[in-house]
Parts: sequence; structure tokens; C-alpha cells
Amino acid sequence: MTTSTGHQGVPYEEITEDAYSDAFAHGARAIPTRRGVLLDGGCPRCAGQMSYPLVDKVFRSPLPPGAQVPATNSKVVAILCTCPEDHPARPDGERGCGAYWNITLSATT
Ligand SMILES: [Zn+2]
Ligand SMILES: [Zn+2]
Repeated sequence: MTTSTGHQGVPYEEITEDAYSDAFAHGARAIPTRRGVLLDGGCPRCAGQMSYPLVDKVFRSPLPPGAQVPATNSKVVAILCTCPEDHPARPDGERGCGAYWNITLSATT
């Protein structure tokens, strides 16, 4: 079954590379939603089309209680591939190819 073009059916692996962030940011769109923002783009590892919803709660969860947030207008968030295509060796309940990377969101307000 090949329903999308260019998808790489690489084996599932939890992996990250420095280049992923730039590669994703290059083609991704950030779509404002009522709850946050929806990142829409292609996975830099498997080239699958994916959307990743970011909500305010998610922005804050990685920080331990009492952590000081730097006074900047940007947030670094970790996202992972959620492409709907098949990847061999993927654990049940997981999505995507296992790739993950950080992106920096710039606040607009
Ligand atoms: Zn992927
Ligand atoms: Zn994929």
C-alpha cells in the first residue's frame, strides 16, 4: 500500500538528530487552534505527513514544579513523529517512526 508519496517505511526507532529540528521547521506550518497550535509538516526522518497539536498544558508540563522559566518569548518543545503510516517493529500503541526533536516556538503576543 502506497497512499502517500515519498514516505520511508523505516523501522521504528526512538532517535533524534540535530538536523531534524531545522528540517521540520522548514516545511512546517503552525496553525492556531482554540487550544494552542497545530504543527503541520513532514517528519524529517520518514517523510510522513503529520500534525502535532500543542496545547498550553503541554507547554508547561516538561518543567518541574518551581523551575524558573527564562524570561524569553520563545518556548522549546519536544515533539515526535506521529505519521500515520506503517513502520516495522513499532510497539503497540505508538505512532510514527519514533523520531523526535525539539522545536522553538516564538510567542506572537
Ligand atoms: Zn517519522
Ligand atoms: Zn512514517
